[in-house]
Amino acid sequence: MTDYYEILGVARDASAEQIKKAYRKLARELHPDVAGASGEERFKDVARAYEVLSNREKREQYDMGVDPSAPGGGAGGGFGQGFGFQDIFETFFGGGQASGPVPRARRGQDALVRMDIDLVEATFGAKRELQVDTAVVCGTCGGKGCRPGTDVRTCDVCHGRGNVQRVARSFLGQVMTTAPCAACQGFGTVIPEPCAECSGDGRVRSRRSLTVNVPAGVDTGTRIKLSAQGEVGPGGGPAGDLYVEIREKAHDVFVRRGDDLHCTLPVPMTAAALGTVLELDTLDGAEEIDLRPGTQPGQIITLKGLGVGHLHGNGRGDLNIHVEVQVPTGLDDEQSALLQQLAGLRGEERPEPRLVAAHPGVFSRLKDKLSGR
Ligand SMILES: [Zn+2]
Ligand SMILES: [Zn+2]
Repeated sequence: MTDYYEILGVARDASAEQIKKAYRKLARELHPDVAGASGEERFKDVARAYEVLSNREKREQYDMGVDPSAPGGGAGGGFGQGFGFQDIFETFFGGGQASGPVPRARRGQDALVRMDIDLVEATFGAKRELQVDTAVVCGTCGGKGCRPGTDVRTCDVCHGRGNVQRVARSFLGQVMTTAPCAACQGFGTVIPEPCAECSGDGRVRSRRSLTVNVPAGVDTGTRIKLSAQGEVGPGGGPAGDLYVEIREKAHDVFVRRGDDLHCTLPVPMTAAALGTVLELDTLDGAEEIDLRPGTQPGQIITLKGLGVGHLHGNGRGDLNIHVEVQVPTGLDDEQSALLQQLAGLRGEERPEPRLVAAHPGVFSRLKDKLSGR
């Protein structure tokens, strides 16, 4: 059986305090930073000895001739109770490999700009000039951050590793922790003579002009992505993306719903009754429309394909013209006489009071009004 007392170099009747002291002394001596890799195996033995002798119950077992840390041995079910030997070892030496220095150049952030467009631009698409303020690569140092003619120097605190190890005390003695090097912020290098233009950041802010292709069909909230036109990263790292968020201004006449357009056409009662041909200004220019005799209020004249272009794909929405029949007011005597004559001819002098069920369209129009559409 392994002699744990001998490994720790203490007497069999050593006190708990003496055992702790002996363990700590050995742990410092055998630490890999001091003893190199050769200390690791011995440290494992020391840690195992300490694990047994520092625990009153395990020490009693051991003194009675049972090794509680031997695999499968010991009344206590071995070393365990969820406290694996590997755990202690890794706690002490730090698990896994410490990561190396972080690169100076990192990807920049995405940027967002807003762009107001009008309905014509949304309908047909547009090419627009845009002024953007973003970080760009510093022209003086090319992103390196060093004064021209100078270079970065290996950090002499961490020797280029980018991190430093610290010893902290714990119940096991010393524990190694790894932290980014404060002298170089983890880069592993320092800039002895920073570029005067960018103060070593590798980038400067600049206003520049961009051409944005606004596709037909964009709407308020649509984002157009311009790859690698965002902020250049620290150290001259690759630029993020630029997003152009569209805000569509309301049009005086045409209201957009999806890719369809809606407008209202007021027509005199006589024109609605008799029918006529009208020339209207649409977004595509003048269009002739045929107002059929007997056109009713609320009737919709649809001009196919004169709406907004579809964003993804071909084709366009429709233009819907809602007819609003205007009943004449302020009739003079002659006009009154004419309308009375017409009413007489149509037998409408005393119209029969007659209620009919409400047309479903009334409700949908009412709903639209309430929802503010
Ligand atoms: Zn610079
Ligand atoms: Zn450093």
